[in-house]
Amino acid sequence: MSEELAILHEVQQADAELARLRKALVGLDTGDELAAQVEQAQQELGDLREQHRGTEKDSMDSDLELKTLQEKKSKFEGQLYGGAVRNPRQLSDLQREVQLLSREIGKVEDRLLELMEALEAESAGTQRREGELADMQERLAAVRAKHESAGSRLRQEIAELEEKRSAKAGQVGPELLKRYERIRERSGNLGLVKVSGTTCPGCQVALPSELLKRLGAGRQALTCENCGRLLFFPEGED
Ligand SMILES: [Zn+2]
Repeated sequence: MSEELAILHEVQQADAELARLRKALVGLDTGDELAAQVEQAQQELGDLREQHRGTEKDSMDSDLELKTLQEKKSKFEGQLYGGAVRNPRQLSDLQREVQLLSREIGKVEDRLLELMEALEAESAGTQRREGELADMQERLAAVRAKHESAGSRLRQEIAELEEKRSAKAGQVGPELLKRYERIRERSGNLGLVKVSGTTCPGCQVALPSELLKRLGAGRQALTCENCGRLLFFPEGED
């Protein structure tokens, strides 16, 4: 019985390690979260570029408007100072037109200046966002590569250990193995504990001295009265 329990203890160790490996596999960063951030950054960058194109168009429109106004103003100024118009009423009308156009031109020039500044700010913003996006894409590639390599390594370790575990489990009597599985299922993956002192390592409760004596004799598989786990007392150790 003692030897069977020693093998079952190896099975238990494999089960604990398998749980750790499976948890590590599930816990690997898939990069999905970062991928969502990359997608969002791409979207934002697209919006920024579109906004920039809009500002460029506004600026071209204003530029054209400015030229038209300036041409008009030049035309009126030509008439005003050309000497062909002499009627004072007409001259004062022309003067008023020129003044109005100058104010208009001033407004468009102010607007153009604002648009120039906006264009610069947008270019800088776009460039910064492009840099950030490139960094994120680089990080994403690294995370995905790591997920790939660490994932395949873990899967291989798990497969190998599962095979070893299965071979070991095959050396344990089916009754005892079934009993172990039942206890392990309800006891947090710990169905058998190795006793080295006077307490149960599974629940930290003191084991009765009577039980300890029977454990030492090693003739049957005993369980902790408190937590129900199988107790393995290695021979030659105390
Ligand atoms: Zn216990």
